Amino acid sequence: MGKGFDGARAAEVVAELRETFRSGRTRSLRWRAAQLKALARMIDENEADIAAALYHDLAKPPTESFLHEISLAKEACLFALKKLKRWMKPRKVPTSITTFPSSAKIVPEPFGVVLVISAWNFPFLLSIDPVIGAIAAGNTVVLKPSEVATVTSSFLAKNLPQYVDNSCIRVVEGSIPEASALLEQKWDKIFYTGSARVGRIVMAAAVKHLTPLVLELGGKCPVLVDSNVDIKVVAKRIVVGKWGCNSGQACIAPDYIITTKAFAPKLVDALKITLEKFYGKNPLGSTDLSRIVNSSHFTRLKNLLDEEKVSGTIVHGGQEDEKHLKIAPTLLLDVPSDASIMKEEIFGPLLPIITVDDLEQSFDVINSKPKPLAAYLFTKDHKLEKKFVKTVSAGGMLINDAILQFTNPHLPFGGVGESGMGSYHGRFSFDAFSHKKAVLSRGFYGEIPMRYPPYTPLKQKVLRGLIAGNILPLLHALVVWPGHQKV
Ligand code: NAD
Repeated sequence: MGKGFDGARAAEVVAELRETFRSGRTRSLRWRAAQLKALARMIDENEADIAAALYHDLAKPPTESFLHEISLAKEACLFALKKLKRWMKPRKVPTSITTFPSSAKIVPEPFGVVLVISAWNFPFLLSIDPVIGAIAAGNTVVLKPSEVATVTSSFLAKNLPQYVDNSCIRVVEGSIPEASALLEQKWDKIFYTGSARVGRIVMAAAVKHLTPLVLELGGKCPVLVDSNVDIKVVAKRIVVGKWGCNSGQACIAPDYIITTKAFAPKLVDALKITLEKFYGKNPLGSTDLSRIVNSSHFTRLKNLLDEEKVSGTIVHGGQEDEKHLKIAPTLLLDVPSDASIMKEEIFGPLLPIITVDDLEQSFDVINSKPKPLAAYLFTKDHKLEKKFVKTVSAGGMLINDAILQFTNPHLPFGGVGESGMGSYHGRFSFDAFSHKKAVLSRGFYGEIPMRYPPYTPLKQKVLRGLIAGNILPLLHALVVWPGHQKV
């Protein structure tokens, strides 16, 4: 589905999926497990094609494609398969004295018909991962991959229908017109990954039908580097977290570094040495670096570098190859805070380093900006680590490394404030696509006459006593048990 997909066609698709959802087809553990197994099989049987698609769209090195997209998508499937039965089980919870005697449970139920809109930078993982959550939770789902990663989008449109149940899971390819046609419809949940600018459009569309949504957005992710660290390890982890992740085109890639004035020269040297070791003397020719996704993003990044107050701060890199959409890993030192590169998300291979006298000053620098999706700290100082976790607000944090937090399925992945709302991964994906239905159940015995009118002064006094405490003896005295009468 794609070209010619308009509002009428979108309405038809939603109606079909709603009908299937109402039939109860997606509810059983068996159906959900079968779809997840089929997804895992699709990944296994098409690994080479997925890597080729990612190479075509981004020149993504095959190792990166395997590590960051293919294997993580498969692991997410297998994890959900393993845990599904437990996740689906209603959870018994305690009851309160007000409802005594009773039982209470939380029953997870699928929302219904859900929409997943994904981004181009990890175009396979970011499409499949939310779909796994939607299926595990028992929903029918429409996936709209990003049109910018053309080949991965076509791969999904061609292959998903061959593996999964088409009466419940659809792929709609396209750009703004198709996404807008989809957003006009009534969904039971929308899961959006992409920029905050489009996130606002998605949220405005959701308002019309009061549709709940998850927004996985981006922002500027800071990296704080203390002077007491093992600098060689730090340099390797920052370099692979920034340039080894799609050349910095990742929502949780280090966006800028903050370190002390005294330590900055040592850090710059260590980063330069590591960059050369990893990508050689001519990084533009390295096959271990992704390219910039398209010419408009290339121009955007070039403009960030060409700004007058910025170009003089380049201390490493800066070379460009417009024909092949490549920009060398670039380090900038002491960029003015009012430069565009320090105000907007970079989303590319440029890494500014700003300096402070004391690293703790950086907490204010971060907290003065919109809350980041991720914040990183390299230090051996446990007190500083504790203070960082307590003081800095971010979607997630990682101490002494970068990026890896998103590989742990036991951690929620998502933003806060302008970096997004809601989260997913592992159990959190299941929860993102499930409504937690509260179910309280009572029998016909255990009547408390005090709750019924007329509210005499005596009844009011007893009720207040009940609610205030010392309840059990009172309760036993007041409850009407089967076969006994009390007035
Ligand atoms: P984008 O907002 O341009 O596009 C994302 C999706 O929205 C695409 O599928 C696109 O077709 C659709 N879209 C674009 N314009 C639209 C419109 N007017 N109406 C409806 N839909 C529209 O984002 P992008 O450039 O693909 O992604 C980059 C951004 O995404 C960065 O800010 C990055 O940090 C963020 N991101 C976040 C995560 C995360 O998990 N939090 C992951 C990847 C990217």
